[in-house]
Amino acid sequence: MTAEGGTLTGRAEEYFEGVRRGEPAQKALTAAGRCFEHGRRDVPKVALTFDDGPDPVFTRQVLEILDRYGARATFFCVGHHVAALPDEVRRIVAGGHGLGNHSWSHPFLFDLTPGQLREQIDRTTEELDRVAGTAPAWFRPPYGALSPEVLAVLAEHPATLTMWGRGRPRLVAAGARADRQDRPGGVGPGSVVLMHEGAGDRGQTVAALPAIVEGLLARGLEPVALDELAPPPRTGPEGA
Ligand SMILES: [Zn+2]
Repeated sequence: MTAEGGTLTGRAEEYFEGVRRGEPAQKALTAAGRCFEHGRRDVPKVALTFDDGPDPVFTRQVLEILDRYGARATFFCVGHHVAALPDEVRRIVAGGHGLGNHSWSHPFLFDLTPGQLREQIDRTTEELDRVAGTAPAWFRPPYGALSPEVLAVLAEHPATLTMWGRGRPRLVAAGARADRQDRPGGVGPGSVVLMHEGAGDRGQTVAALPAIVEGLLARGLEPVALDELAPPPRTGPEGA
């Protein structure tokens, strides 16, 4: 298992070059309704998403805060955390929140063979189905690492690729930095907001979350699970 967070140390150039080469393929996937970057811009809803969990400490703290405001979110889980902390996953589902797939071990996807990438996704889906009885359609690549080679595999896979923010992946190793890019000021109707609740000290996220949710609610934006932001793209309003 690769340690999360530090995987891309010293590899930023390779990352940005791969993502740049992958842009046309990602655009094509988005046009085909297979890559989801945001919901409808005319509906005052925002999808909060939390990556890298479940976590033995922070998942329930995040859930408690969301519950306080009646807010819903989607948790992109790492498969081996799911296997270790099935009760946290059940807690997420019991709270009315959604689940997403964030790979089995959070690798840098550029390092994987096509078969290994498919296994990272399928094994996590199977584990989520086993512990929570639900197999999520959403897959978010660790670090947003989408090269043409990675996208070629995803194009043939049933999972719906799910990005965030304004659709441009960024290299984020630290949760605090990821949270900063998603301050409510940069968020509007249909936005997918990326935060982290696992694989590190997410105390900052937990501390900031009440103000983030209150800020959204004050602007009339309802925090919802991805499923409520828009139906899965292939049957979504974009195709209507
Ligand atoms: Zn991640």
